Amino acid sequence: MSGKVIVVGGGIVGASCAYELALRGWRVVLLDASRVGGGCSQGNCGYVCPSHVYPLARPGTIASTLPLVFRRNSPFAVRARLDLPLLAWFNAFRCCCTEAQVDATMGALHDLLAVGKARYEEVVRAEGIDAEYEQKGCLFISKDEAHLEHFEADNRRMTERFGYGARRVDGRALAALEPTLREGLGGAWMFDCDAHLRPDRYMAGLRVALLRRGVVVCEGTRAIGIDGGRGVATGVVTEGGILETDAVVIATGAWTPGLARSIGARLPIVPGKGYSVTLAGAESLAKHPMVFEQHRVAVTPFRGAVRIGSTMEFAGFDASIRDERLRLLTDSASLYFKEPVRATREGAWFGWRPMVPDGKPFIDRAPKYRNVMVAAGHSMIGMSTGPGTGQVVAQMLSGEPPAFDPGPFRIGRRMG
Ligand SMILES: Cc1cc2nc3c(=O)[nH]c(=O)nc-3n(C[C@H](O)[C@H](O)[C@H](O)COP(=O)(O)OP(=O)(O)OC[C@H]3O[C@@H](n4cnc5c(N)ncnc54)[C@H](O)[C@@H]3O)c2cc1C
Repeated sequence: MSGKVIVVGGGIVGASCAYELALRGWRVVLLDASRVGGGCSQGNCGYVCPSHVYPLARPGTIASTLPLVFRRNSPFAVRARLDLPLLAWFNAFRCCCTEAQVDATMGALHDLLAVGKARYEEVVRAEGIDAEYEQKGCLFISKDEAHLEHFEADNRRMTERFGYGARRVDGRALAALEPTLREGLGGAWMFDCDAHLRPDRYMAGLRVALLRRGVVVCEGTRAIGIDGGRGVATGVVTEGGILETDAVVIATGAWTPGLARSIGARLPIVPGKGYSVTLAGAESLAKHPMVFEQHRVAVTPFRGAVRIGSTMEFAGFDASIRDERLRLLTDSASLYFKEPVRATREGAWFGWRPMVPDGKPFIDRAPKYRNVMVAAGHSMIGMSTGPGTGQVVAQMLSGEPPAFDPGPFRIGRRMG
C-alpha cells in the first residue's frame, strides 16, 4: 500500500518515519508544531548505543533513586504537585521493576537498537549527511573499583544473551586512553559497539534529504486531532483546518498523550526533562564518549566542542533553564577531569524525554483507526532507536514484513 501519509512530529522518530515512507513511494507531509529537529532530538548527547539494553526500571532502582529525590541538587528531581497521570506513571514504573520485565524489555530493546544503528550507517552514507557519525565506543567510568565490579554481572548477562558486551579497562589504562581524566579513578567498561553523532547536524541533514526526496515539510503547524469514522482516519485536524490523508503517523514525543486521546489510546508517556551544555572550543577534554555512572552524567566529543548532558526532572512541561541544574552537570564532570569544567549559559539546552514506565516505545496501530500508527515514547534512547522505529513503521504501513517483532511495543500492553 502507498498513497498520501501525514507524519505528525518532526523529531528523530517522525523524521525517520517520513524518510522511510518516502523511500517506499508514499507522498509524505511532515507536520511540526515548531520546527523539524527542534524538540528533544536537538541537544541530546547523540549516543547511538546498543549498550543501552537495560531499562531504567529494574529491581533496586527505586531504592537507589529515592534518596536522590530528597537531596538538594541531585540529577533526579520530582516537582511536588498533584499530578494524577504522573502518580499513575510512577506506580506503573514500580510494577516494572522485576527481573522478568527486565528480561523481556532487554530483548525488545536489543532488536530496536540493532536495527537503529544499522539504519544510521546506511542513511548517513546514502544521503551524505555530515553528522560526525563515528564508532569510537563508549566508556562507562567508575570513580572507584568497587563500583566497577558492580557491572561485572550485568556485562556477563548481556554478553551471554546478545554476544556483545564491554571490555574492562583498569585505572591506569583509562588514564592512557583519556589523559584529561583525574588519576586514581576506578576504571571503566568500554563498549566498543557504541557510536555517536551530533544530533542537531543529523536532524538538519535529514531535513535536507527529506526535501530532496519530495517530502512536504510544514513547520509551525500544530495537529489537534484526527478526523475519520468507521475505523478509518481521513484527515489530520490542525489549527488552520483539516488536511486530508490516506494514513497518519503520530510521532509527537513527550506531547503524544494529548493527541492520542483522539485515536482512542491512553498512553503513559510523561516528560522527563534533561539538560545539556555544549562547550565550544573544549574538544581536547574528551576523545571518547563517556558516562560517569555514579553521577549520571554523559560526555560526548564533537568537532570543536564537547557536550555534557544529564538530569531527569519530572516537572511537567516546565520550560525554565535553571543555572543550578547546569552547574550540576559541570560540577559533576569536574569530579572526573583534572581541570575544572565551567558552566556557560551559551550552549545550554534542555529537552523533554518521552518517558514510558517500562522503557519501551509504542510502535503500533491506533485502537480507533487502522490507518493510523503511533511511534512515541522512546524515553532515554530515542536518538538511537528513532531510525529503527521509522523503518518498522514504514514497513507495517506498506504491508511489508517488519525488521523486528513489533509485539513488545504494542499499545495497551501490561506494565509490569
Ligand atoms: C539531556 C538528554 C540527553 C539524551 N541523550 C541521548 C542519547 O545520547 N542517545 C539517545 O538515544 N537518546 C538520548 N536522549 C533521548 C532522546 O533525545 C529522545 O528519546 C528523542 O529525541 C525523542 O525523539 P522524538 O522524535 O520522539 O521526540 P522530539 O524530538 O521531542 O520530537 C517531537 C516533535 O513533535 C512536535 N510536536 C509535538 N506535538 C505536536 C503537535 N500536536 N502537532 C505537530 N507537532 C507536534 C514537537 O514540536 C517536536 O518537534 C537524550 C535526552 C536528553 C534530554
